[in-house]
Amino acid sequence: MGAFDAVRGFYRAAVERLGIDPDLGEAMATPYRELAVQVRVPMDDGSLGVFPGYRVQYNGARGPFKGGIRFHPGVTLDEIRTFAFLMTWKTALLDLPFGGGKGGVRVDPHLLSRAELERLSRSFMHAVGLLVGPTQDVMAPDVNTDATVMGWMFDEFARRVGHHPEVITGKPIALGGSLGRDAATGRGALVCLDHIARARGWNREDVRVAVEGYGNAGSWFSRLADELGYRIVAVSDSKGAVVNPRGLEPHMVLAHKKETGSVIDFYGGETVDGARIVEMDCEVLVPAALEESIREDNADGVKAMTILEVANYPVTPEADVALAERGATVVPDILSSAGGVVVSYLEWAQNMQHEQWREHLVNERLTEMMESAMDSVTARAERGESSMREAAYDIAVRRVAEAEEARGYL
Ligand code: GLU
Repeated sequence: MGAFDAVRGFYRAAVERLGIDPDLGEAMATPYRELAVQVRVPMDDGSLGVFPGYRVQYNGARGPFKGGIRFHPGVTLDEIRTFAFLMTWKTALLDLPFGGGKGGVRVDPHLLSRAELERLSRSFMHAVGLLVGPTQDVMAPDVNTDATVMGWMFDEFARRVGHHPEVITGKPIALGGSLGRDAATGRGALVCLDHIARARGWNREDVRVAVEGYGNAGSWFSRLADELGYRIVAVSDSKGAVVNPRGLEPHMVLAHKKETGSVIDFYGGETVDGARIVEMDCEVLVPAALEESIREDNADGVKAMTILEVANYPVTPEADVALAERGATVVPDILSSAGGVVVSYLEWAQNMQHEQWREHLVNERLTEMMESAMDSVTARAERGESSMREAAYDIAVRRVAEAEEARGYL
């Protein structure tokens, strides 16, 4: 079964629980529009690079399609469709005026020069440009893309259509990017963890946390959690993991990674095989890397009783069942990874009003919106004796269905 069919199970169960009209249920079970493009890149050596690119516009009932662009060798249409599906429920759950979309290019950006990366970014924007726009489809960063890439894409759109900072979020500050956007996914996830810690009466100092993935989300989450007093006992990346039961110093780990290209061999911990990160002896496990890191074959090894999904789709449905049987709490991706798109919304709103807000205001609004979503999901889960994922899907799917119904079906 592909990833899309797997995640669709979460949705179909919600449609049943909510008693949604079956025709509408089917309409929302498939993407509205999928675009597959050829991304041409004149390479530095004079050859022509051709890479497959995609933009999936899953559902736009609540507003413009919204979602990031990833550059990764594993990108497929099925994968991008899966993430566009997840963005639909993520924006609805956080009550943002957006639908769900996602895009990507199948390429290993680490093999490209900076000039090639710029040409790739521009070529992708050129190819999908007709279907995006501030009120149609608003793109953003994701795996292996950042503010620099967003700046190039913004400029490519501006050359053709005119100056529209609202067409893309996660931009450089100099082009209307929002303060606080870079840290937003990590900060949003931390609000979720703090919410749980408060409800359970935990002392932050006693909470050991293992983080899988040390990209934007994982490294920001680790640094901010460490500042609040949580103990980050293990972090990993694609090359391996580094462990210290007394706690790592996440900002030093990041400096080490910037210098050497990886977290491994960090002097303040022991380097172990990356696969061991999910089995760490800790209270909270934070998968913040790629999809499907906790699966049927390794779920039984998970010792943490709280799993905070900061990646998109890090826990497969089979693993989700196995974790629930053990009594573990899983905070679902459409909630705990939503900080990035929340601040994307705040950036879009600032751009629409030609404003630049102070960072503390952005962080306050992010915290309020994440807290409020956590309150609704935990209350619904407790009332319905359901998992947090089920409660989150129920709230999100109902909101999208209400918008669809209010529009009429023609
Ligand atoms: N790529 C991020 C996500 O998966 C952010 C998307 C956005 O800001 O539009 O949530």
